[in-house]
Amino acid sequence: MELKNSMNIILDEILKGKKNVALGGHVRPDGDCVGSCMGLYHYLREQYPDITADVYLEEVPEAYSIIKDTDEVKTQIDDSAVYDLFICLDCGDAQRLGFSRTLFEHAKETLCIDHHVSNDAFADHNYIVPDASSTSELIYRMIDKEKISLACAEALYMGIVHDTGVFQYSCTSPETMEAAAELMRKGINGSEIIDKTYYEKSYIQNQILGRALLESMLIMDKQCIVSVIRQKSMKFFQAKPSDLEGIVSQLRQTKGVEVAIFLHETAPHQFKVSLRSKGRVNVSEIAQFFGGGGHVRAAGVTMEGSSHDVINNITARIALQLKHDEEQDEKQ
Ligand code: 5GP
Ligand code: MN
Repeated sequence: MELKNSMNIILDEILKGKKNVALGGHVRPDGDCVGSCMGLYHYLREQYPDITADVYLEEVPEAYSIIKDTDEVKTQIDDSAVYDLFICLDCGDAQRLGFSRTLFEHAKETLCIDHHVSNDAFADHNYIVPDASSTSELIYRMIDKEKISLACAEALYMGIVHDTGVFQYSCTSPETMEAAAELMRKGINGSEIIDKTYYEKSYIQNQILGRALLESMLIMDKQCIVSVIRQKSMKFFQAKPSDLEGIVSQLRQTKGVEVAIFLHETAPHQFKVSLRSKGRVNVSEIAQFFGGGGHVRAAGVTMEGSSHDVINNITARIALQLKHDEEQDEKQ
């Protein structure tokens, strides 16, 4: 099958004749993943009552439960289920679907809606816009603005808020702000969504953030900052992996650094690596080199080895990019 990314995906046409549809997002779902899945879920249920829609995601972090019906999300699959359509959201490759990948593979037709630059258009229909702030913004672009309900608007707004760092990151475009404005007009409580799902931290989350900041180190002539959280610290603070969200962004705020590297030990000699850049370094390229993916300024990958090995391997790739960047500067 020819792999193709189309800018003219018409949801209505793809849904024609479908009786059941599954929605799935990436492992360790973040705000945009949950927001885009729930936003589209509400829209489908409201506008296509003849279609049965199910959302499949790993456990949704507690803070996102202010979005309506997150308790209906399915965290397990029936292996024999065959959906007419599987819609893959905010997910750069099929492997990142985790447990719902089987449903994707068994589905009669597949659609992928995403904004990861590393996405290679792996579904039957693909709507991939790497410039877009978020998958939630892409859902907003695809659906009928008149028919957006309050529940749908709240979910999409949350997704946009999270992937733009509350409209701060460079992925925030005039279109993003227009989408947010239109969603506000649906009557959402934007301040509450921002506060409860983005800024509010549990005591445990703040404790582990403090630990990560305290133990962080500046490396590569202060161009990079790195921090590691090990399993024993997770146990000590009784923290869940989702409690680590936001740590790498905080590290990136450090004045003078180009790249923040955050390692979370997921098993002995295995680390979930989060990378954030201020713009000079393309961290998606580095994550992809080691088998992961993401965006130019935010990417991730799982790597094996000691923390020193992992950091050395990553910093070598960062050094290459910075050297190349300096050579380009000298030529100009
Ligand atoms: P985070 O560091 O917050 O986990 O992820 C940053 C970005 O990179 C997100 O857009 C996320 O989807 C993507 N990402 C994180 N880990 C992986 C990975 O292992 N593989 C791929 N393909 N993308 C990842
Ligand atoms: Mn996203």
